[in-house]
Amino acid sequence: MGKSIRIHPLCCGYMQVSETVPLGNGKSLKNSAVQLLAKTDRRMKLPVLAYLIEHPDALILVDTGWCREISPKGVYDPAAVKQVLPAHLASFYQPYVPAGMAVHEQLAERGIRPEDLDIVLLTHFDPDHVAGIRHVQKAKRILVAEDEYFWNCRVVYQQRQPKALFEGIPMEHYWYRGSDLGTNRWAYDLLEDNTILCVNIPGHTDGLCSVIVQNGELLEHKRKFALLTSDAAFLPKNWQEDIIPGRGFDPTLQRKGVRWIKAQSAMDSCVGVFTSHDPDIPLQPIEVPFLDRD
Ligand SMILES: [Zn+2]
Repeated sequence: MGKSIRIHPLCCGYMQVSETVPLGNGKSLKNSAVQLLAKTDRRMKLPVLAYLIEHPDALILVDTGWCREISPKGVYDPAAVKQVLPAHLASFYQPYVPAGMAVHEQLAERGIRPEDLDIVLLTHFDPDHVAGIRHVQKAKRILVAEDEYFWNCRVVYQQRQPKALFEGIPMEHYWYRGSDLGTNRWAYDLLEDNTILCVNIPGHTDGLCSVIVQNGELLEHKRKFALLTSDAAFLPKNWQEDIIPGRGFDPTLQRKGVRWIKAQSAMDSCVGVFTSHDPDIPLQPIEVPFLDRD
């Protein structure tokens, strides 16, 4: 008893995106145009968060944020961004990574080498989540959902998810299984101990996984969990005010997703809900109790 799972939010840079990205209430041609062309004063600076999970049995990194090459001097550098991203994504994201904030730099600061990571879990293939993968490619295992990997073949995803960012990286694909969790009732038990559950919440992408980190307790009144939504939501406003993000492939599924997140957030067992782009998330460890069954 007394052990816990500790989740560290790591801010791995920023994206300066149109306010319609987190709060556009659905995909539209107008939103898409605005997202590429928005002037600086109509953009929001949002963090790009990865999460380091210190589990008693495994060290897990969820997503990888931007790569250092996108911002060599730690400031917004449009020419450097275009070396990494195609022009339309460079305009969409306007990303930068202050010195010391790329994922491998933050891990090194904590005395963690990439090869110390047991698992790197990619929630989906959008560049703000995978661009840093080469910095941690020596991790013991890198995992992505088969549904995310497979549907990358769609033209719509190829425009969003440049393959060059992750091509050639040795990656395992996991298969979701029937579950009572999530909008698709599909989940994958990462460590096979009911503590880290990859829950499929399609809408933003087909294979997107939100991550439930929980104490492994099967009885609901003893359960405690934190929910890492990935991009099923961007800001608490999405579920609090029923506004879906303005980027995704299926608004109906996104609506289901934010309503599911709202229901999770209202549960007594919920320690907190954490997105990948919420500027109000404190960069402090989140504790989830761990049941030691021995
Ligand atoms: Zn994102």
